[in-house]
Amino acid sequence: MKFYKDHYDVIVIGGALAGLSAALMLADKGKDVLVLERHNLPGGIATSFVRGGIEIEAALHEMMSIGDKDRRLKVGKFFDDMGVDVDWIKVPEAYHAAIPGLEVTLHPGLETFAREVDAAVPGTYDKVLAVLNLCNTVFDSVNELSIHPMSKPQMLMKHEAFVKTAGYSTQEVLDTFGLPQKALDLLSPYWIYVGTGFKELPFTIFSVLMADYIGYGSFIPRKFSHEMSLKMAERAEALGVQIEYRQHVDKILVKDGKAYGVRTARGDEVYADYVISSAYPNKVYTSMIEPASAVPADAVKMVNGRRLSLTAFSVILILDKSAEELGIKDYSVFHGDTMDTNKCYEELKGLGPYHYITCICHNLANPDATPPGTCSYSITTLPRVDGWKTVSADDYDRVKHEVAKQLIDYMSEYLGVNLLDHVLECVIETPMTVAHYTGMWNGCIYGYAHTMEDHIVARLQTAEAEHFIGHLEFSGAHQISGDGMGPAVTNGRKAAKNVLDTMAKEAK
Ligand SMILES: Cc1cc2nc3c(=O)[nH]c(=O)nc-3n(C[C@H](O)[C@H](O)[C@H](O)COP(=O)(O)OP(=O)(O)OC[C@H]3O[C@@H](n4cnc5c(N)ncnc54)[C@H](O)[C@@H]3O)c2cc1C
Repeated sequence: MKFYKDHYDVIVIGGALAGLSAALMLADKGKDVLVLERHNLPGGIATSFVRGGIEIEAALHEMMSIGDKDRRLKVGKFFDDMGVDVDWIKVPEAYHAAIPGLEVTLHPGLETFAREVDAAVPGTYDKVLAVLNLCNTVFDSVNELSIHPMSKPQMLMKHEAFVKTAGYSTQEVLDTFGLPQKALDLLSPYWIYVGTGFKELPFTIFSVLMADYIGYGSFIPRKFSHEMSLKMAERAEALGVQIEYRQHVDKILVKDGKAYGVRTARGDEVYADYVISSAYPNKVYTSMIEPASAVPADAVKMVNGRRLSLTAFSVILILDKSAEELGIKDYSVFHGDTMDTNKCYEELKGLGPYHYITCICHNLANPDATPPGTCSYSITTLPRVDGWKTVSADDYDRVKHEVAKQLIDYMSEYLGVNLLDHVLECVIETPMTVAHYTGMWNGCIYGYAHTMEDHIVARLQTAEAEHFIGHLEFSGAHQISGDGMGPAVTNGRKAAKNVLDTMAKEAK
């Protein structure tokens, strides 16, 4: 029996969240799909691993766009519609902000959140709620416009808040509310999930982030992010998708300006009408297109013109006592010496010491995450790729351990417990780990930085012109919906929709 069919409708490179979402949607529409994944399991970063007999989440802190069962958001609804039955746990809080002069736990729900900010910074309820309501209005517009694009005059009439704020940075819009600094600080912690300081971050992106996470809360799968990956792969196969693991795609074959297949590292050539790539455009345009002469100069300009965003450095600890015994009270803590997001962003350029940190104790959302009497605690910072590109192979081990020790000491001081006295297992994930494991360009997990010069609204306008090679689509953090596990799903669906639209257009 032959390993591959003679021809597929679509080949998807990468069997992680984005690639599997594309495959699910295409298979659901009756298309013949092959997924090629270089690892021996699905999920990419949405995975877990076992140390000392304990399963450990590799990445996920919290996921957006899921929503409760009776008011699902787009990603939750997609899973439901596709028959991907994930056992979601709602995270109990939005976050605990541990910042100078403030120790405040905030919960989801726009009014609840505003009330809790008001309790910490009295007299701010109305203004905080007004910020959140504005975010929510912009969020609704983004959701509607992403499905029903409309003319500018129509947009002005129906989506005034979206249009009015689209040209402004988060800082510019927040400044108009005249909130005291401490209240602004409490509205800021999630900035790290989109990875740009407020001076440069389009308000549109901030709005989506706040309205989604604070309006609807966040979720995690009970059996870690790998539950999601495994169930997606299982469902895709049930719908007829062929998934082949341990198959690294080396080349995307192009003829007459159109992709028509791939060549794997094993040397197999496989043919299809369309190719969807989870690999970054930077990787594809610089080394994967065959022949290289088929890469238009504008494609190289595009990837060189975009700024890569953040990568990740994470220390994941399994500790020998329960969270309660160690005095860990919150599922999610954002800890910083300052809440000036522009300063934090500057600091992320280097190799540490890092002071803006996000910590998760899984057991406080999912008590069974580790065996009784233990808990898992992850300490994560999200540096820019720049600094980590300068680390030589000889220095890597030293730098990795220095940064990990700094993060552990920093959080030990905050908790008043020497975490090193309680370690059963310790795993250190660096930007190199991410690059190595997923092939993400420079280990960048966030795609291209959101900035006022490279604004999502502008990217939507140029998306069509950025189809440099026919029948080749991209899915992953580098695409329009940006970074994160929820957006990865949306990016995969968008790639599938582009394929289906082109198929329909060319069939006419
Ligand atoms: C420490 C850490 C914490 C995070 N926390 C969160 C969080 O709390 N919430 C959140 O929403 N997101 C979080 N993220 C980000 C999130 O994990 C990613 O944005 C998302 O999982 C990306 O999914 P993807 O499908 O786009 O890409 P990836 O998971 O990177 O998958 C790419 C896949 O393609 C495969 N591949 C690549 N090249 C080839 C090739 N040439 N041939 C075959 N296969 C190939 C890879 O093996 C991989 O399986 C975190 C990431 C890290 C590292």
